[in-house]
Amino acid sequence: MRQVCRAPRCPEEPIPGRYYCARHTRLRDKARHASRPERKIYNSNRWAYLRRRILYERPFCAHPDCDELATDVDHITPINAGGDPYARANVQPLCKTHHGRKTRSEM
Ligand SMILES: [Zn+2]
Ligand SMILES: [Zn+2]
Repeated sequence: MRQVCRAPRCPEEPIPGRYYCARHTRLRDKARHASRPERKIYNSNRWAYLRRRILYERPFCAHPDCDELATDVDHITPINAGGDPYARANVQPLCKTHHGRKTRSEM
């Protein structure tokens, strides 16, 4: 059976010994590297506690034109851009829509 890259709908042959083609292997390594320090923070008790406090104190989305309930706590300066993950001055509550929009625009 012919092997293909495991990325969805990618028809390329994987590089020997790997499951993904050269392009997707590179993309995956990059993504893993970029998300590593953040994942550790988002799994920490300290972040869980801060997140709960912020959503309790400021239950509404911080976007000026929005009055939705906040569901996410966002870093104003992203962690991977050197932002302090636990500083209250660097976090804001956002609704799903605005958090999704901001996260996408940072990528
Ligand atoms: Zn591929
Ligand atoms: Zn919003």
